[in-house]
Amino acid sequence: MNTITILETKDLCVNYSGIQALKNINLYINSGEVVTLIGANGAGKTTTLRAISKIINIKSGEILYSGRNIIKRPPHEIVKLGIAHSPEGRRVLAKQTVYDNLMLGAFIHNDKAKIQADIKHQFELFPRLAERRNQLAGTLSGGEQQMLAIARALMSRPKLLLLDEPSLGLAPAIVKEIFTIIQNLRETGVTILLVEQNANLALQIADRGYVLEAGSITLTGAASELITDERVMKAYLG
Ligand code: ATP
Repeated sequence: MNTITILETKDLCVNYSGIQALKNINLYINSGEVVTLIGANGAGKTTTLRAISKIINIKSGEILYSGRNIIKRPPHEIVKLGIAHSPEGRRVLAKQTVYDNLMLGAFIHNDKAKIQADIKHQFELFPRLAERRNQLAGTLSGGEQQMLAIARALMSRPKLLLLDEPSLGLAPAIVKEIFTIIQNLRETGVTILLVEQNANLALQIADRGYVLEAGSITLTGAASELITDERVMKAYLG
C-alpha cells in the first residue's frame, strides 16, 4: 500500500504575547494513522492542534495538507478541506440540544438529506447520544459531552480529526468506551492526531508519537517503541 502524507508541519512557530509556545515543530501524519502528541502540561500540545485548525495566529512555518500549504486559510476553510477539531474541554453548546450541536458541526454542508444521514450515522456510532437527542448538551454527563464533541467534529466528514484530551476528567469505564470509539473510527478510515494526557493509553492505540517539551519536539518514533523508551516511561508513564 502506498503511504500518503496527509499533513505535515514545517518549522511551525507560535508565539503568545511574545512567549514562544511552539518552536520549529516538524511533524507529519500519514493517511490512516493515529499519531499522538504527548507531553507535560504547557508543553504546547493544544497549541499545535489550534495552529493546524488555524484558530490561533501562526508566527512562521508551513502547514502542508495533501501537499498544499494551508497557512493562509481561515478556520472555516480548514474544516472544508477536511480537518475537524474536537477541542479540549469539549466546548459543546450547553443550551442547545444534542441534535442542534450536531447540526452545527455540519455547517459546511448544504445537502439536507445527507446531513440527516450523517446524524443517523453518528447516532449509530454513539447510541447514548441517540437516546438524548433532544436533551440540552449542558445536562449531559462528561463522557456524553465528550462523545458529542467527537460526533460534532465528525459531522463535517473529516479526513483528519484533531482530538484534544478526550479522556480528561472522565471515569475509567467511560475512557475505555471513548478509546474503543476512537479505534473504531480509525477503522472507518479517519486519520487522527490525538493529544492525550494519559500517555499510556494514547501510545497503546497510536501508530506513532511525538514528545513535546516546552514547545519543541524532543523525541519521536513508533508508539510501540516510545511506550518502552526509558525517558518516556520515566517522564510520562509513571
Ligand atoms: P495542557 O495539557 O495544560 O493544555 P499543552 O501541552 O496543551 O498543555 P498549551 O495549552 O499548548 O499546552 O500551552 C503551551 C504554552 O502556551 C503554555 O506555556 C501556556 O501557558 C501558553 N499559552 C497557551 N494558551 C495561551 C494563551 N491564550 N495566551 C497566552 N499563553 C498561552
